[in-house]
Parts: sequence; C-alpha cells; structure tokens
Amino acid sequence: MSEACSHDCSSCQQNCDSRKAPQDLREKPHELSRIEKVIGVVSGKGGVGKSLVSGLLAVAMSKRGYHAAVLDADITGPSIPRLFGIHGRAVVDELGCWPAETAKLGVKIMSVNMLLDNETDPVVWRGPIIAGSVKQFWQEVIWQDVDYMFVDMPPGTGDVPLTVFQSLPVDGIVVVTSPQELVGMIVSKAVKMAKMMNIPVLGVIENMSYLTCPDCGKKIKLYGESHVDEIAAKEKLPVLAKLPIDPALTALCDQGRLEDFEGDWLAETAERLKNL
Ligand code: ADP
Repeated sequence: MSEACSHDCSSCQQNCDSRKAPQDLREKPHELSRIEKVIGVVSGKGGVGKSLVSGLLAVAMSKRGYHAAVLDADITGPSIPRLFGIHGRAVVDELGCWPAETAKLGVKIMSVNMLLDNETDPVVWRGPIIAGSVKQFWQEVIWQDVDYMFVDMPPGTGDVPLTVFQSLPVDGIVVVTSPQELVGMIVSKAVKMAKMMNIPVLGVIENMSYLTCPDCGKKIKLYGESHVDEIAAKEKLPVLAKLPIDPALTALCDQGRLEDFEGDWLAETAERLKNL
C-alpha cells in the first residue's frame, strides 16, 4: 500500500509510503551563521510592494532591538539594495561571503546585485541556476547573529519559492497583496503552497490600500474597495496591516533611505513576530 492509506499504520506492519516522514531537504547555513527565525515574504505578482514590506519588516524589528537581515531571493528583479542605498560589492574572504550592512540600523543584506560588475546588468540565468544561487546565499553567506531573516521572494509560486521552502527552515510566510489584484486567488495559492510545505501563513498585508488627501485628510481608495478582509477571513488568516500609498515613502525608496522612514506601519506584524 503506497498512497493515502486509510488504516492504522502503527499496527499493520506495512511500511506505507504515505506515512513515512517527508525527506528533509534542508540545507545547512554557513558554520559562522546564527539565524533564529526565517520569514518568507511572498506576493502573486510584481510591483505590489513585496520588497518594500520585506525592508520595512527588517527596519521594524531592528528598531525593536533585534538583529534583522534580508535575503533578496528576487534574483531577476532585485530591489533590496536600492531601498537601503547599498551599491558596493559583497566582501568575500577566506571565511566566506559577508552580507552588506545598512548605514543606520545595521540590517544585513545579500542580493545578486552585490555580485554583479554593474548593478544595471540583467541576470539572464535559467531557473535552476537562479534557484541554486538562492541556496548559496543561505549556505555560503556568513549571517552572523541574525534574529529575524526576511526572505524577499520573487512573485508567484515558481522554482525559487519552492527551493526556499524546501531548503530553508522557514518559520512563517507573510503574503503581500494590493487591492487591484485578484487577491482571492493569490491568497489561496499562497496558503495551499504553504500547506503543502508545512509552513504557517502568518497573515496578509495589503499595500497601496488608500491615499490620504493632503488637503482634507480624506482616505481615497484609488483601486476601489478592498476585499482583503473577507478573503483573509475565509482562509482564517489575520490582515496584519493595510498600508497607504505615501509619496514621501516613494521618494525615500528612490533615494535609498528606507531606514529614514518614520512610520511604524508594521507594528502589529512586529508584535506577532516577537511571539513566533
Ligand atoms: P515588488 O517587490 O512587489 O515588485 P516593490 O516593493 O519593489 O515591489 O515596490 C516598487 C516601488 O513602489 C517601491 O520601491 C516604492 O517606490 C513604491 N511603493 C510600493 N508601495 C508603496 C507605498 N505604500 N507608498 C509609496 N510607494 C510605494
């Protein structure tokens, strides 16, 4: 009997495949690394603010006294170094590869952009090479003393998320959506993938929920009514935050000054992460 047995395996003496422990494909980090918690940040499509949320989460945890890091697994669309104003190359010595550290809070960052001769060079690699480089970021980078590592995933459910979920000890996933997406489908896909990989989904963050009129303070829902509450409730997930569109934040992102952003928009998420 190999598939989906329906009896009590403990008494049948058969070695049912469906009861065997799944093969552990986790990779070891570098021997000098210490990484406590790993959080995956996922989205259904690009441009919804997933990298921004990864960066803001790292900033939120740093401001609460934790050591935070961002592993930029969005290999073909890396934007983490730009958000933090990091332009140099990663330092490699006889011990291994060292992540960059952000100027103010010392958030540790590793991204493919830090390995390219020119950060505007495109990464034109096939899927397995891309997924392999994410594994290398985990295994060969020295992540010394990290309390919370945020993994900024590429959008969708392709090769890289699968590799990350299989190879890294992911403690939870945060789903980033925006009101103009087919949120229901995206959230269900993320939840199903997470279930398949036995990883808890911590909740949903809706970005670009509204814009506050600078003159009258009214909240303008640029993309219409959000459905994130009902969809999250259907999946029994909390909505962790609804983030406004803030032109001042866009400017800080463009200037590589995310750390200077004063808003504590992800306070509730940070509290949950503390108790993880
Ligand atoms: P993704 O990772 O989903 O592709 P990003 O996080 O890179 O998207 O977001 C793209 C850019 O959009 C950011 O660098 C930032 O300039 C802008 N942006 C995203 N969300 C907001 C927001 N809530 N307010 C202002 N600008 C935002």
